[in-house]
Order: sequence, then structure tokens, then C-alpha cells
Amino acid sequence: MDGSIQWLGFAGMGLVVVAYVPQIVHLVRARCTAGVSTWAYLVWTLYAALLLVYAITAQDPVFISLQAYQLVALTSIYLLSRRLKGRPCEDHCGKSANPGPEIVMPSDRPITNSDTPMPSGS
Ligand SMILES: [Zn+2]
Repeated sequence: MDGSIQWLGFAGMGLVVVAYVPQIVHLVRARCTAGVSTWAYLVWTLYAALLLVYAITAQDPVFISLQAYQLVALTSIYLLSRRLKGRPCEDHCGKSANPGPEIVMPSDRPITNSDTPMPSGS
């Protein structure tokens, strides 16, 4: 492969590295699995392992680095989501620390004829 374009692959890999950070940090700090599909991360872990074997065979340094990182990140998310399954944090279980404005319902005064406009033409 042309080495002059290889930086594009490593730049893309940098974005992949950054993309996994929020999910892993939330799993570790909040111990929260809300929105994490254990099944999907298992399949993605297997995908990363298969493509790592392919990348090693193809001797492509960008893909080897990318798939090695993805295998570690995806395995970590999969194992954490299995261990912490069903534990949403306060932000994800509907108890917000900053609830929205209180909704004030109208009074229970019965509706009278004076409340409803008369249809025109009658
Ligand atoms: Zn959460």
C-alpha cells in the first residue's frame, strides 16, 4: 500500500478510538447498561476477531491496529454489559436530577354551555 495515504487510515482509527470512549466511561463510572445490547456487542466482538485475523493475513498495519483496538474495546463493553446487565443509572431510569417544569392542569370545573362556542349558521 502507498505509505503516503496511510495517514488517512490512522486518522480514521483515531476517530474510532475516540468514539468508544463515552460508552466505556459511562459503563465504568455509572455502572449503567442502558441502551447497550449485549447481543450486538457479542456479534461485534466476533466480527472484530475475524477481521483482525484477516488484517494480520493481509499485513495491513492500519487494519491490524484498528481491529486490535476494536477487539479490546468491544470485548470490554460486552463483558461489562453482561456483568452489569439491567442497571440503569439515574439519568437513564427516568429519575432526572433536573426535572422539567411542572405541568399545571386546569381546574376540575365542569364544562358548561357557555364554555363551548355556538356553531355558526344555526
Ligand atoms: Zn446511564
